[in-house]
Amino acid sequence: MAKSRKQTNPFERLRDHYQQVETECPECGYETADSDWKSTTDGSEVRYQRMRENCGYVHMRSVTISR
Ligand SMILES: [Zn+2]
Repeated sequence: MAKSRKQTNPFERLRDHYQQVETECPECGYETADSDWKSTTDGSEVRYQRMRENCGYVHMRSVTISR
């Protein structure tokens, strides 16, 4: 998996943060830091999603962009 160490913006940093703190699945308790958060934005909100490959549970987080 190619992963850039360069953190260019706050949203990537936030995603990295989630990746590190939310390693345990609330659904099945399986712990992994492998799966990647995907981020999408509509301009006023950023949504992060991550699906657990072993059980299919989907983590969701959203952050409102303040201007
Ligand atoms: Zn799970």
